Amino acid sequence: MSEDGFILGVDLDGVCGDHTEAFRRVVAAELGVPADTLGPQERWDFADWGLSEEQFFALHRRGVLDHRMFRDMPVVEGAAEALWRLNDAGVWVRLITHRLYANWGHEVAVADTVAWLDAHAIPYRDLCFLGNKPQVEADAYVDDAPHNVIELRQAGNAVIVFDQPYNRDVPGPRARDWVEVEHLVADLMVRRGLPVQTTLLDPDRPTERLHRRQAAQERTR
Ligand SMILES: [Mg+2]
Repeated sequence: MSEDGFILGVDLDGVCGDHTEAFRRVVAAELGVPADTLGPQERWDFADWGLSEEQFFALHRRGVLDHRMFRDMPVVEGAAEALWRLNDAGVWVRLITHRLYANWGHEVAVADTVAWLDAHAIPYRDLCFLGNKPQVEADAYVDDAPHNVIELRQAGNAVIVFDQPYNRDVPGPRARDWVEVEHLVADLMVRRGLPVQTTLLDPDRPTERLHRRQAAQERTR
């Protein structure tokens, strides 16, 4: 474990952000079909929406650059609140995203990601933009992509699978929501003999803290 404490590597798409829903809106608009005709994403490669690999890449590019899907993506319920509680319990939150896997649009991808994190008050101490390599020296990871989970585990890492229809074949530990992520992380910390600091009771919603601090900073400027 690092001297910074327990580092939790948290993936964005499919874990903090509802990537399937954001991409569904893009595909519906681009192909001119109602969004509800595009069912749950049962497969990682979107073959169940009838997309070839080539179509997927073309639509994804339009999604990022024209539809600004990284800025407007719906947030996964409870993600920000749970990450604030974990932060308060002594966890170092290291966000990891593979959004630079394509060699175009990095400016939009990075700017929209940061704007989105601020808008949803998601706390983090590091933000890693990666290509393919899944590992960033964390004590545990939360990820939804089957290939990332498998690769990280093969390298000896503790990985919590964030439940999605396309990863049900991957063995657990598995979290169906963010409350379950919190419990699994607390278990891992206890098993490593780490004190899990009790979250101080904050009368306000944790996600509002960041915005309050920003407002206070503005006032003192
Ligand atoms: Mg993901």
